[in-house]
Amino acid sequence: MAELDQQALHSEMTAWRRDLHAHPEFGFEERRTAAFVAEKLRAFGLEVAEGVGGTGVVGTLTRGSGNRAIALRADMDALRIAEQGKQAWRSQTPGTMHACGHDGHTSMLLGAAKLLANEGGFDGTVRFIFQPAEEWGRGALAMLDDGLLERFPFEEIFGLHNMPGLPIGHFETRSGPVMSAEDNFEIVLKGLGGHAARPHAGQETLVAACALVVNLQTIVSRRLSPADVGVVSVTELITDGTRNALPGLARILGDCRNFRSEVSAAIEKEMRRIAEGTAQAYNVAAEITYTREFVPLINDAALVDEAFAAARMVLANNGVHVAAEPMTASEDFARFLDHVPGCFVFMGNGDTAPLHNPAYDFDDEGLLHGARFHAAVVRRRLALGS
Ligand SMILES: [Zn+2]
Ligand SMILES: [Zn+2]
Repeated sequence: MAELDQQALHSEMTAWRRDLHAHPEFGFEERRTAAFVAEKLRAFGLEVAEGVGGTGVVGTLTRGSGNRAIALRADMDALRIAEQGKQAWRSQTPGTMHACGHDGHTSMLLGAAKLLANEGGFDGTVRFIFQPAEEWGRGALAMLDDGLLERFPFEEIFGLHNMPGLPIGHFETRSGPVMSAEDNFEIVLKGLGGHAARPHAGQETLVAACALVVNLQTIVSRRLSPADVGVVSVTELITDGTRNALPGLARILGDCRNFRSEVSAAIEKEMRRIAEGTAQAYNVAAEITYTREFVPLINDAALVDEAFAAARMVLANNGVHVAAEPMTASEDFARFLDHVPGCFVFMGNGDTAPLHNPAYDFDDEGLLHGARFHAAVVRRRLALGS
C-alpha cells in the first residue's frame, strides 16, 4: 500500500483542526462535527455508523484475516467559554469554544484513520470512536447504552489528551489510577427566615451553613485514611437572605474527587452524617443530593507498556515518561475502561494556555505525533503475522 506523505497529512490535519476550532459545538450538539468526521471516514474507505449515543460516530477499518479488534477514541465536544484568541480560526460561535483541545483530538484520530486506511500494516479490526459530550461525563455512557460494545465489539481501547506545559514530542502516563472520579453534591438547609433584628424568633440557615462548610473539612482530614486520596471542595454557598432579612434557605454546592469507589462511598456517608448532625444542632433541616459524575480512570499495566512502546516508535525515547502521580481531574474515557482494559495517555501540547482557559488553543505542531501514535498502537496490538 502507498505510504502517505507525512507533511501533506500534517497540513491536512491542521486544516481540519482549524475548521473544527472555528465551529465548536457543545456536548450532544456535535452535529456539524459528527457529519465532518463521518464524511472524512467514508472518504478514507471506512465503514461508518452515525448517531451512536446521540451524536457519536464509529468508523470501522478491517485489514487481513485477524479476528482481534481494538478501539481508538477521540472526543468531539467544546465548552461554553467565550474565546479570547485573535487567530483567524477562532470560534465563530459566541460563547462556545474548543478550550480543551478536542478539536485536536478529533483531527488526530481522523489522521490515524487516513494513515491506517492508506498504509495498512496491521491485521484485524480497528474501531475509531468519536464520542460526544466528554466534558460533562455523559457521552461515553450514551454510546455504551446504545450498544457500542455489542454492535462494534473490541477487546481493548486507547485514548489520549493533549497536555499544556508538557513539551511537544513528549508523552506521559502511568499504570493504575491516572485520573480521579468526580462526585457532585448539593446540601439544602431549610429553616424559617425572618427579621435580621429577631434571629431567636426564626430558624435562620446561614450560621448553620457556615458551620457545615467548616465541618465538611473534617471528612478528608479526620475520616479518610491518610493513605487514601480524597478531595471535598465546597464551591458555592447561596442563600435567600437580604441585608436585613435572615435566610430561611441555604444551598451548599461542591465537588469531590477520589480514586476508589470505597472512598467515594465513605465521603458520601460522612457528608450525610455531618450535614444531618449539623442541621440538627442548629435546628434546621438538611436535604442532601450526592451524585457520581465521572468514575476513576485506571490504566491497564500491560497496555501502558504497549502504549509506551508505541510512543517510542514515533518519538525519541527521552520523550516518553512515566507520570509521577495521578491527577485529580476527571475524564469520561474511564467509562470504557469499566468494560475493557485500556490505556489513556497525555501528549505534550507545549506552551499553550491552560485547558479550559479562554485564551487556550491547541498547538497544531503536535498533530502528527498523535496520529502516528494511534497508528503505532494499532500496528503493535494487531501486528502482522501474530
Ligand atoms: Zn475539558
Ligand atoms: Zn478534554
